[in-house]
Amino acid sequence: MLVVMKANATPEMIEAVVKSVTEMGLSAHPIPGANRTAIGVTGNKTQVHSDRLRVMPGVQDLVHVTEPYKLVGLDFHPERSVIDVAGVKFGGEELVFIGGPCSVEDRDTTLAIARKVRDAGGEVFRGGAFKPRTSPYSFQGYGEDALKTLDAVRSETGLRIVTEAIDPENLRLVAKYADMIQIGARNMQNFSLLREAGKSGKPVLLKRGMSSTVEEFLMAAEYVLSEGNPNVILCERGVRTFAAHTRNTMDLSAIPFVRSKSHLPIIADPSHGTGVRDMVAPLARAAIAVGADGLIVETHINPDQALSDGFQTVGSDVFAQIVDEASRIAPVVGRTVASRKSE
Ligand code: PEP
Ligand code: MN
Repeated sequence: MLVVMKANATPEMIEAVVKSVTEMGLSAHPIPGANRTAIGVTGNKTQVHSDRLRVMPGVQDLVHVTEPYKLVGLDFHPERSVIDVAGVKFGGEELVFIGGPCSVEDRDTTLAIARKVRDAGGEVFRGGAFKPRTSPYSFQGYGEDALKTLDAVRSETGLRIVTEAIDPENLRLVAKYADMIQIGARNMQNFSLLREAGKSGKPVLLKRGMSSTVEEFLMAAEYVLSEGNPNVILCERGVRTFAAHTRNTMDLSAIPFVRSKSHLPIIADPSHGTGVRDMVAPLARAAIAVGADGLIVETHINPDQALSDGFQTVGSDVFAQIVDEASRIAPVVGRTVASRKSE
């Protein structure tokens, strides 16, 4: 870190900062300039706890050099992580496609959707059993019955299962059925849930909060890793902005930015990212082009009948089209698609 002193800071003020830094067990290196002095701080393994320095007389600014996230960052882990979800690998050369309805539906409908996902080249099935809905009067999911339906999907199709946990207690139940636990946008900073997900050791799909910065997003992942669970896959799902033509603004730039800061895989959710059925395929193509490691897409055999989020759910034909288009973009960004290798 660099402590930038004000131009009128006195030698006593500079000396006091040096003393405080030394008391913190770190080394201070004053660098006198033409107008002001900067003090380099070294010896820290994580970001310096700088609150004490910020308020000292003569201090103008603090410039952090070390990232605050040490486990998810690239400083101590420069090689990219490949996360294994029951045999499906995220973050390697191959793109991974997750498809399924917003909420788990009745068994027959859910299985019919799952077969279409598998036939299109999807490898993981999504579907909420416990839904964090904005309104308490909206459909809240079929609960444990839905988890049993997901179990049937896995045994009948071979697809891996990702489904959301909404509180720490419910996470333990979800972990019994799921191959990967989803932590949704509304819970991205539910720290007890993040810690519980960390303790479970299961792969975690962590979605970006709708009003969170990328730094907050990475710090949320840090919670899971700090409990000893390195298996986190990040998901950009759009953020709130003033734009009214979409439900959320899909922050495509977050994808290359996260990849420049973290070794964790990052996938994209163009369904929640747009909230508009006809925009899902275009934004899916864009996400692959900017370097996403895969996609999670809401799809249904009859989107208009979906129990939730039907307006942003694509039909099975469009899901297949998305996989096909992604497989054609893949070579441009140095990726491959497993289901298309033999073609
Ligand atoms: C979902 O995946 O259905 C969901 C609720 O997503 P998000 O948490 O991103 O809103
Ligand atoms: Mn949804």
